[in-house]
Amino acid sequence: MAASITTSAPEVKDLTRMERVGAHSHIRGLGLDDALEPRTASQGMVGQMQARKAAGVILEMIKDGKIAGRAVLMAGAPGTGKTAIAMGMAQALGPDVPFTMIAGSEIFSLEMSKTEALTQALRRSIGVRIKEETELIEGEVVEVQIDRNPTNPGKTGKLTLKTTEMETIYDLGQKMVESLNKEKVMAGDVITIDKATGKITKLGRSFARARDYDAMGPETRFVQCPEGELQRRKEVVHTVTLHEIDVINSRQQGFLALFSGDTGEIKAEVREQINNKVAEWREEGKSEIVPGVLFIDEVHMLDIECFSFLNRALEDDWAPIVIMASNRGITRIRGTKYTSPHGIPIDLLDRLLIIGTTPYSEAEIRQILSIRCEEEDVEMTEDAREALTKIGMQTSLRYAIHLITAANLVSRKRKAAEVDVEDIKRVYHLFLDEKRSVEYLREYQQEFMFSEDIPESQQNT
Ligand code: ATP
Repeated sequence: MAASITTSAPEVKDLTRMERVGAHSHIRGLGLDDALEPRTASQGMVGQMQARKAAGVILEMIKDGKIAGRAVLMAGAPGTGKTAIAMGMAQALGPDVPFTMIAGSEIFSLEMSKTEALTQALRRSIGVRIKEETELIEGEVVEVQIDRNPTNPGKTGKLTLKTTEMETIYDLGQKMVESLNKEKVMAGDVITIDKATGKITKLGRSFARARDYDAMGPETRFVQCPEGELQRRKEVVHTVTLHEIDVINSRQQGFLALFSGDTGEIKAEVREQINNKVAEWREEGKSEIVPGVLFIDEVHMLDIECFSFLNRALEDDWAPIVIMASNRGITRIRGTKYTSPHGIPIDLLDRLLIIGTTPYSEAEIRQILSIRCEEEDVEMTEDAREALTKIGMQTSLRYAIHLITAANLVSRKRKAAEVDVEDIKRVYHLFLDEKRSVEYLREYQQEFMFSEDIPESQQNT
């Protein structure tokens, strides 16, 4: 029986038109002035002055590129802007400095070991700025430094040539000869220029090409020029991360893994070779190391092995700045039976610079909510704003932020142009905040299926 395959025309959605508003999309920087003083509200940032100022100082340290392996801990209650400040730092660093963000729990996966996941995150946060000279292009001006007199090598001169597409080395040579003649060049000086790479090499008489030059006559020979003195006017700089170089050079994965994210484990030898190569480029002045930032949110989710690995990794010359965030107080260090502040072992804690974030005032919450309304394109009456601010104070800032979108939907449903108090009330009753959710659970705990963990003493018999 012949099988027939039918296909329906795929539905094509215009993805570029879809704009999403993320939790931190209103943050555009740390909102500091030139003297690194925080402005009360700027670049989407409100309040949290001490923490923003401290973050600004760290930013300067990163920009200087002089420090490596520092670690910072942002400690504070949930919703006090730890992640927002880290995002602000990322924005202020600009696109050339790598900024990687992971949650502590992401380290645990079946595909790779914890240390491999951490290594990849660390290497994603280190940039290699590669300077590359472009190929000669039509009309490009090149400068050649020549040694005009072999018997008097100290005397050098500069020669500027303009290339055109059809030029061959021979043509270029011809031009040089013309110019050089004006410069009274000594006979017997020979150089060649590679048009594709622009590299200047000494041309020995035995070199096959020398015949062409000889044909021009003994008086008009090329000038002998030391290698590599062709100076380009244009230099292209790219920054890639060490992780990207690892993936591209890892034969198993190949560069396509950069798009799929499915990089698997990368062999230690590959990394070692890359480190050596990058170090070599650096010595030759072809590249620079740009230490970036690794932000680890919910750092208390890491276990003791991860912490000791991090402690050692921070000592590496090429370590990025590691910023951790935690909203836990004294808690158990995962993988041990010991407790410590933020669940971080004392030896690591000891090397951290700690930035604290404090709860927001009512005025600050009101302002953050207003910024979010603007970001989400939501019109809201003054009374509704007031009600939402009250909710933010009593529950949490994040819960109040979430209610903006929901209330907007409700108001649109009743065809109103603005969100009003009744919409806020409606969604407040529809969606529980954490406190009410706990109360609700307590009230109905008998009816939930998995309540075996409740100690017998607390169970109703
Ligand atoms: P958690 O400990 O739960 O991870 P957090 O301290 O990282 O919380 P954020 O996620 O940064 O808190 O803040 C919650 C929300 O409030 C985010 O949408 C964030 O962008 C916004 N926000 C927090 N602080 C500020 C601030 N100072 N200015 C503007 N927006 C802020």
